[in-house]
Amino acid sequence: MKYPYTVKDLPYAYNALEPFLDEATLHFHHDKHLQTYVNNLNKVLEPYPEYQKWELSDLLINLDKLPNEIKTGVRNNGGGVFNHIMYFESLTNKKSKIPSEISAAFGGEENLLASLKKAALGQFGSGFAWLVQDAKKQYKIIALPNQDNPLSMGLKPLLPLDVWEHAYYLGYQNKRDAYLDNLLKIIDWNQVSQRAK
Ligand code: MN
Repeated sequence: MKYPYTVKDLPYAYNALEPFLDEATLHFHHDKHLQTYVNNLNKVLEPYPEYQKWELSDLLINLDKLPNEIKTGVRNNGGGVFNHIMYFESLTNKKSKIPSEISAAFGGEENLLASLKKAALGQFGSGFAWLVQDAKKQYKIIALPNQDNPLSMGLKPLLPLDVWEHAYYLGYQNKRDAYLDNLLKIIDWNQVSQRAK
């Protein structure tokens, strides 16, 4: 994925994830919020032809090496683009089984889901909970604020759980807890495990 960034269609219909995630939320989240991150990232990179040639993941991995003038813009908007595309691609209306390799790392499916939910609930304000792999291929669960991405910390992102209010407020109002319970029912674990090394 490189400059100029564009918004691709969702890999499913806007109402495909109901009743777990409603159509209106997906329209706003994908058509408005993601589009804004895409527009802003393009604006940030417009005067920097050198960095237009970089893959988005390389920009996030090497955030510290970017010129100061674009570091925050790439962190927030590049993260916004990467995180949302991975989030939308991590959801499905098809039955999906958690790979035993992943659940075993957390002592079983129930513990894995509880740990993801705990990290997501514990993120104060906006951000994401993440299932990641570290350099030793160990599975870990972390929470990061805003649009920060695990790549910038040397971690491999496998699954983002968006807990910005825009991800759930239309359907769930302030009930982040109920949103997460339902979100965890529509994870495409096949996609998640394909991202693991
Ligand atoms: Mn979001």
